[in-house]
Amino acid sequence: MNGETRLYGFLAHPAQHSLSPLMHNLSFQFNHLNACYLAFDVLPADFANAVNGLRALNFGGANLSLPYKQQAIKYLNELTPRAQKIAAVNTIRNDNGRLIGDSTDGAGLFTDLQEQKILLTAQTIMILGAGGAGRAIIAAAADYHIKRVYVCKRPNQTYTKIAAWLQQLAAQTTTEYCLVNYADTAALLAALQKSAIVINATDQGMDAQQLPLPLEVLQHLKPQQFVYDLIYHPLVTPFLKYAQQRGCNSCNGIGMLLWQGALAFEFWTGKKMPIEIVRKNLVTEIRRRTK
Ligand code: NAP
Repeated sequence: MNGETRLYGFLAHPAQHSLSPLMHNLSFQFNHLNACYLAFDVLPADFANAVNGLRALNFGGANLSLPYKQQAIKYLNELTPRAQKIAAVNTIRNDNGRLIGDSTDGAGLFTDLQEQKILLTAQTIMILGAGGAGRAIIAAAADYHIKRVYVCKRPNQTYTKIAAWLQQLAAQTTTEYCLVNYADTAALLAALQKSAIVINATDQGMDAQQLPLPLEVLQHLKPQQFVYDLIYHPLVTPFLKYAQQRGCNSCNGIGMLLWQGALAFEFWTGKKMPIEIVRKNLVTEIRRRTK
């Protein structure tokens, strides 16, 4: 590092757990870029100053995570169309003081599926959960020409808001969006039976115990269905174990983590992330943390 080193950062609260410094510093080294990526635990009261600090200190860019993905928008100059659709950003690029926000989470998941040669065009998919990650995937589905998306959500205080948002999305694309009430087992089963890909975007399974769907629904999984769990810690969730026992191909969320990072890296630098090198290091680091 020297006087010309460009800084990049991860802003969240808490931030110490982040795997992004590992991913991006490896990628800077691989591409011979004089840059450095650090994690910053930013308290909510300091967030506005932290974003303005990106301009003041001429950062190249940043990633954002909880709780700042939505509230960052008011401090930015511009949003990419996909960030506008979900009104949230996970990536900021600093173009000479103009901060541009993007959302790479949804495209990260679909790029991972494409890399695994999973057919997306004209397919029906089921997404469990419409939280931050779920909404990014739901909105991105249209960019990958998915025919129909079943969005499964608990009937709580955000249900009608998500219903209205899905109607808005449907009006902008040819992708069909159907909201499924998590309390309606028959509707969950009907959605599962029509879906080629089942994606867990809830946090059920992070404790290595919970399944994101009742067994009476899951027992209808067929080997030709692909199962994706966004969780990568643990590397194999109970949902993935169950899907594998049913003969389904499946994967954890490492690929999404990698590709959302690779898309952010390219948005900042115009260069490619060395995917396989980063994947190997990520898995080693997650295994080390699991011990
Ligand atoms: P979030 O905003 O808190 O959303 C959590 C979602 O889980 C909500 O939709 C919530 O449903 C649902 N949920 C919680 N308990 C449930 C239950 N018992 N039954 C059904 N649904 C339930 O979290 P997030 O940021 O979207 O993250 C979700 C998961 O994705 C986490 O496990 C996270 O680690 C993972 N993730 C992975 C990546 C990656 O790169 N691989 C990136 C981001 C997140 P309601 O809306 O109905 O309350």
